[in-house]
Amino acid sequence: MAHIWPTLRRIKSDLTITCRRCGNRQVWPRAQAIQVLGGETLPHQIRGKIRCDLCGARGRDGFIDTDARM
Ligand SMILES: [Zn+2]
Repeated sequence: MAHIWPTLRRIKSDLTITCRRCGNRQVWPRAQAIQVLGGETLPHQIRGKIRCDLCGARGRDGFIDTDARM
């Protein structure tokens, strides 16, 4: 179950990115996620930008889940 959080800058944990199609899970350290995606990025924007390294499923097609703690 994904938590709701406003922008990337506000998270207190690493960013977990999970592929719904193949189950691949990546954990991005918080600082890296902010550097790569931008601190003002919203969860749905993150999902729209990334794709699974393993199977190529795209977040904008609804295959990627993101999670982090506030
Ligand atoms: Zn995948």
